[in-house]
Amino acid sequence: MANAPTDFRQLKEEELKKYLHDTIQVPQDLQSNVLVTTLDKIYNWSRRSSMWPLLFGLACCAIEMIATAASRYDLARFGMEVMRPSPRQSDLMIVSGTVTKKMVPAIVRIYNQMSEPRYVVSMGACATGGGPFKEGYNVVSGIDKYLPVDVYVPGCPPTPEALIYGLLKLHEKVERQSIVSVPWYRKDHSEYVPVPRLGPDIFDPRQVELIKEYTLKAQAGPTEGAEKAAAGPKAKGPAQLSEKARARIEAAKARMKAKKAGQ
Ligand code: SF4
Repeated sequence: MANAPTDFRQLKEEELKKYLHDTIQVPQDLQSNVLVTTLDKIYNWSRRSSMWPLLFGLACCAIEMIATAASRYDLARFGMEVMRPSPRQSDLMIVSGTVTKKMVPAIVRIYNQMSEPRYVVSMGACATGGGPFKEGYNVVSGIDKYLPVDVYVPGCPPTPEALIYGLLKLHEKVERQSIVSVPWYRKDHSEYVPVPRLGPDIFDPRQVELIKEYTLKAQAGPTEGAEKAAAGPKAKGPAQLSEKARARIEAAKARMKAKKAGQ
């Protein structure tokens, strides 16, 4: 702590320096009343100093997030103490905990309801990659498969210090943005994320073409099926589908076709 500023006036000056204009110098006698800065610096400073996180938690990591907001760590230092219960008033989503397939549609819907600019912090091993439940039948392997994540905070669970470090990294990211190039002022920009569907399994509507391609390939008929059958007794292909199963698939296709025609 040898280099720590000894008085608050010095600390204030050092903090202010980051926001002053690089080249325009204010005369000495005006320096206590006049500051010259750029629009980007003031815009980013105000955004990063008043980020409002959305009030929600998914699992054990949420307890650490709550501890971060409480008196010992005190998020109020960053203007973040007001966790908003409404997505319309929030610009930061901290995904804290295990993301189950059942929750993904709700999380994405809430993200879409948040006002722009909005940011996502993936807190903990579960939110980032499934954590100890990776490949579990009901857990997604990372929220970044559905939402654009800005900062990942590792750990199981991450400590409040780790979350604060992640938030400071997010502040740095915000400070690097420029009002002339940020996407949310562009005319045709929309960050709407299609809400995933939870059926027998979860699927992302953006992957529909890919899923369709795979499904059609799987139904492609005897050539591929025969190859798989030749590969060994474990290989199961559509050629091995029973007549009953084939009939069920055809009936489902016909129903879909009729439904589409009726729309
Ligand atoms: S990362 Fe660990 S602490 Fe966090 S939700 Fe998953 S299991 Fe719980």
